[in-house]
Amino acid sequence: MSDSNKIRVRFAPSPTGGLHIGGMRTVLFNYLFARQHNGIFVLRIEDTDQNRYVPGAEEYIMACLDWCGMHPDEGPHTGGPYGPYRQSERKEIYRQYAEQLVQAGHAYYAFDSTEDLEAMRIRFKTAQNPAPQYDHSLRMKMRNSLTLAPTEVKQLIESGASHVIRIRVPENELVGLQDMIRGGVNFNTSQVDDKVLLKADGMPTYHLAVVVDDYLMKITHAFRGEEWLPSAPVHVLLWKYLGWEDDMPQWAHLPLIMKPDGNGKLSKRDGDRLGFPVYAMDWKDPKTGDLTRGFRELGFLAQAFINMLAMLGWNDGSSQELFTMQELIRKFSIERVHKGGAKFDYEKAKWFNHEWIKRLSPEMLKPDVKKILEIKGIKVDDDALLERIIALVKDRCVLLPEFYDQTKFFFEAPKQLVTEPIRSKWSLEKAAFFVDYCLLIQTPGPWDAAVAESIFKNLAAEKHIKPGELQLPLRIMLVGDKYGPPVFDIASVIGREETVKRIQYGIQAL
Ligand code: GLU
Repeated sequence: MSDSNKIRVRFAPSPTGGLHIGGMRTVLFNYLFARQHNGIFVLRIEDTDQNRYVPGAEEYIMACLDWCGMHPDEGPHTGGPYGPYRQSERKEIYRQYAEQLVQAGHAYYAFDSTEDLEAMRIRFKTAQNPAPQYDHSLRMKMRNSLTLAPTEVKQLIESGASHVIRIRVPENELVGLQDMIRGGVNFNTSQVDDKVLLKADGMPTYHLAVVVDDYLMKITHAFRGEEWLPSAPVHVLLWKYLGWEDDMPQWAHLPLIMKPDGNGKLSKRDGDRLGFPVYAMDWKDPKTGDLTRGFRELGFLAQAFINMLAMLGWNDGSSQELFTMQELIRKFSIERVHKGGAKFDYEKAKWFNHEWIKRLSPEMLKPDVKKILEIKGIKVDDDALLERIIALVKDRCVLLPEFYDQTKFFFEAPKQLVTEPIRSKWSLEKAAFFVDYCLLIQTPGPWDAAVAESIFKNLAAEKHIKPGELQLPLRIMLVGDKYGPPVFDIASVIGREETVKRIQYGIQAL
């Protein structure tokens, strides 16, 4: 493919706060499509709305992409031939296009004050039209270059009167677009208001900037959330009015991610209410200081997070659910994305994580586990030992922090023993068994799980005690509780001396 028809997609977030899983899925689908077609994945920061700008949000977005290994080919940090990639740094570019639209009669200057707009909403409110919009039906009743005399308009502009530029949406026309997921989608322009294109501060609105930048950045495919579908007719009109119709990207509006009960769009509030993350990573609101937990910090692997996102609204047509990024790049197809909303299911998200923990090698899990243990004050230098331990426990861990509970007893003797489950059946006979077991295992010789087990079983047989009755006490002595991997594996890893110490302590405690 030559450079001139290379596939170019973009992720165009507004830096307004934490990155919701819907946004992360938009990134993923763009990224998969770009990689599959050997195309370019652009990151563009849409920060033209200064009121909604939140410091730190851009860095946070970058960190989320980094975590998932979805590195933009072009963007504010990588650079590229179509920069700058932050819309606030492109401010000067947009006005000429807005003016061009005014000259062609597709847009107009509007001088209405906030009070004028408020008065319009009150004055034209009727039972049939409870929220009147600045549109074809009302524009001729407002203060704009369509209603004022040209000399007055000229004078107002020259005197620096505050004004915006609005698109002049035609009345009762059909505007259509071909959506790669939804097929043909048509809108009647009578439903569409005269959106502001250029604001009084000279900044473009999203509507103008998205079209101008998609054009100038040679975007070939624009995948974004379904919430942008109602804005699509404005964008299609702008592509047409600016004379760029032939270069319009192919659209795909991705299905909403729904609340677990399927009732409405999943929001951050649902996560707070139901106790699950909605953001990719922890997000601390710089204004309120409130911390919203993210998938990463709660212990999700990037691989599982990506896999889970991909399955929110897509499958490959088979029953396969586990995919690596490489497989997704090979198999993804935008046409197979569902139209309907995708229900978010936190239990399913955890299932993906569990499957991925099982799938990854101890070596791959090691850096995460090391970090978790270090936070808890356990520093492990012996990598081979740590890998051996991870191999023993990983199938029991659903979220990464569980590695602490599942491994801590390999490094430190339990501080307290949960003896409740064995106390009533404890006997002098059993105590004697453990005393003898300690003596036997102290004899020098090979030491591994099989040796520990066979000595245990032979002694139990000699003493006519069922080994099953002795194993739970042994586990509680070594682990402190009723859980953990096979008990003789634990004994093997902690070594014969430590095993003896813990048993002796256990006998006393019982
Ligand atoms: N800036 C928009 C957002 O925050 C991007 C929409 C688009 O991709 O066109 O979601």
